[in-house]
Amino acid sequence: RAKDEGRNRYCFHAEELDREVREHFTLTNELRAALDNHELELYYQPQVERTSGRIVGLEALVRWNHPRRGLLLPDLFIPLAEQTGTICPLGHWVLDQACRQFKAWRDQGIAPSRLAINVSAAELCICTGFEEDLAEDLKRWSIGPGEIELELTESVLMETTQIHGDALARVPRLGASIAIDDFGTGYSSLAYLSAYPVDRLKLAQRFILGIPENASAIAITRVMLSLARELGINVVAEDVQTKVQLDFLVSAGCLVGQGFYFSKAVLAERATEFLRRGLVETAAL
Ligand code: C2E
Ligand code: MG
Ligand code: MG
Ligand code: MG
Repeated sequence: RAKDEGRNRYCFHAEELDREVREHFTLTNELRAALDNHELELYYQPQVERTSGRIVGLEALVRWNHPRRGLLLPDLFIPLAEQTGTICPLGHWVLDQACRQFKAWRDQGIAPSRLAINVSAAELCICTGFEEDLAEDLKRWSIGPGEIELELTESVLMETTQIHGDALARVPRLGASIAIDDFGTGYSSLAYLSAYPVDRLKLAQRFILGIPENASAIAITRVMLSLARELGINVVAEDVQTKVQLDFLVSAGCLVGQGFYFSKAVLAERATEFLRRGLVETAAL
């Protein structure tokens, strides 16, 4: 009897696994076609300066309008894209689309100081021509220095070999700036701050979420902020969801926040409305 149950459980898992593998396979093939079929779309989440209420930047976040499964979030398909190499055309599409949108906002006189895009480790490691594409796109859309910011996670910087490290070091000369995403969640957080030309740190959700209950989250946030200040690096707090969190951050010297408290990521038309008014819709301030 126990044996039967064991076998049933095994069968169940095997079926489940089989289903997952097939789904993985289907999704992989569909993702390749998704780019050509214009199923990917960029959403934009504002970065807001607390003192003025101004939108100082936006982060582009990719979504997939899947014909059958509806709106898919990047955590579901970016890892697939990385494993299969689709991240290269995908990443290039994101860059091109972001530059195009920035140019449109500038033409309307409402461009924010910067537009950030996410770049994954795989892009730097396997996508040949990454640097050339970047330089070309910035030129094609007449993007000024620092107007496009590349967000890299700490794992990117840790996994990056010398060659790609050199490429990173050249990014500012190409005209883009560099932000460290999810700062504080990696392992060698400090070493690369002096090794790479970092313009901005994005304080990870993990610490922000701990405010105000978690004393160590508060202490760590304070230390990271003073470290950034000492190094002359700008900071954005990620995933700000409550006024208490925002008030603490401001008192600790972090004046720019991004998170559901201000706005979730929205479509370009909505972001354009925000930029026209200079403010986010929630009037959270
Ligand atoms: P990330 O770069 O750290 O982006 C922030 C994520 O947190 C976004 O999720 C955003 O919607 C979410 N978020 C923003 N404010 C809040 C908040 O107040 N509370 C909570 N709980 N979440 C908040 P999203 O869009 O699902 O993106 C997930 C990750 O996927 C991103 O993390 C980024 O690493 C990656 N990603 C997104 N777009 C791209 C892309 O175009 N290329 C690459 N390579 N990766 C991307
Ligand atoms: Mg990011
Ligand atoms: Mg982040
Ligand atoms: Mg994140």
